[in-house]
Amino acid sequence: MASVKPSAPERGLVFRIGAVLSDPAWRLTWRNVFLPVYCKACDMRLLTEENGFFCPDCWHKAPWIDPPYCPLCGKPHDRMVGLGNAPNFPCAGCRERPAKHITRILAAARYDGVVKQAVRLFKFQGKRKLAEPLAEAMRAHVEREGGPAAAYDLLIPVPLHRVRLRERGFNQSLLLLQELLPLCPGAKVDESLQRIRPTVAQSTLKAEERAANVRGAFAVVGDTVKGRIVLMVDDVVTTGGTVGECARVLRRAGAARVDVLSAALARPGMRLDW
Ligand SMILES: [Zn+2]
Ligand SMILES: [Zn+2]
Repeated sequence: MASVKPSAPERGLVFRIGAVLSDPAWRLTWRNVFLPVYCKACDMRLLTEENGFFCPDCWHKAPWIDPPYCPLCGKPHDRMVGLGNAPNFPCAGCRERPAKHITRILAAARYDGVVKQAVRLFKFQGKRKLAEPLAEAMRAHVEREGGPAAAYDLLIPVPLHRVRLRERGFNQSLLLLQELLPLCPGAKVDESLQRIRPTVAQSTLKAEERAANVRGAFAVVGDTVKGRIVLMVDDVVTTGGTVGECARVLRRAGAARVDVLSAALARPGMRLDW
């Protein structure tokens, strides 16, 4: 059977439809119509691409950490004791037992509510696009601090063991770190910190077992960290534990200072359900 060639006007129409479908603004409209997306927290229809998982209202109500919080471990102070808008000051725990190897931990939110939901979608369901809003919150938190970002020489992700990396397909800390590069334009990405033995998920262990679980699990390859000011990036930090051991190894390898920036801060002893 002879094929029927489209006439010139028909070709023009196809071209115009193609142009409309590929235009970014229209693409968003089509997606909203045919592939509606709903907020993972409140089920409201999402109509913008700002954060394709949570509506602005739910994201705004996330447990973001605002002053006053501890400038050493990042833990927010309890507002119920009438602190109001007091400036940041060290918590009792840090005054009594200052961290040995970490100078400070900066955390954007408590590991709770939509942030907990976001981290879990990001990490366990492979929703890599969530690196953007999570890193954006981390960046805003650091900028509120008045710019310690300029001091960092190296950005180091908390590493995954290669077996875990193969299973997951990505290191969530490295994805966050890559989104944070514009924050520290003078800093280099460094992956010389490696996880040399697999560890049991910290969340499954009691507080006293956690230090033993991660002890000796990390090593630094080469000497790039020597004399450098390091910002280590993680998705969820439980005070001490993994980042404490990473910082110990980095300092032993000669790092001048190790700070930690994390999307979320879990309470000590909190079960993280993973
Ligand atoms: Zn919502
Ligand atoms: Zn503290």
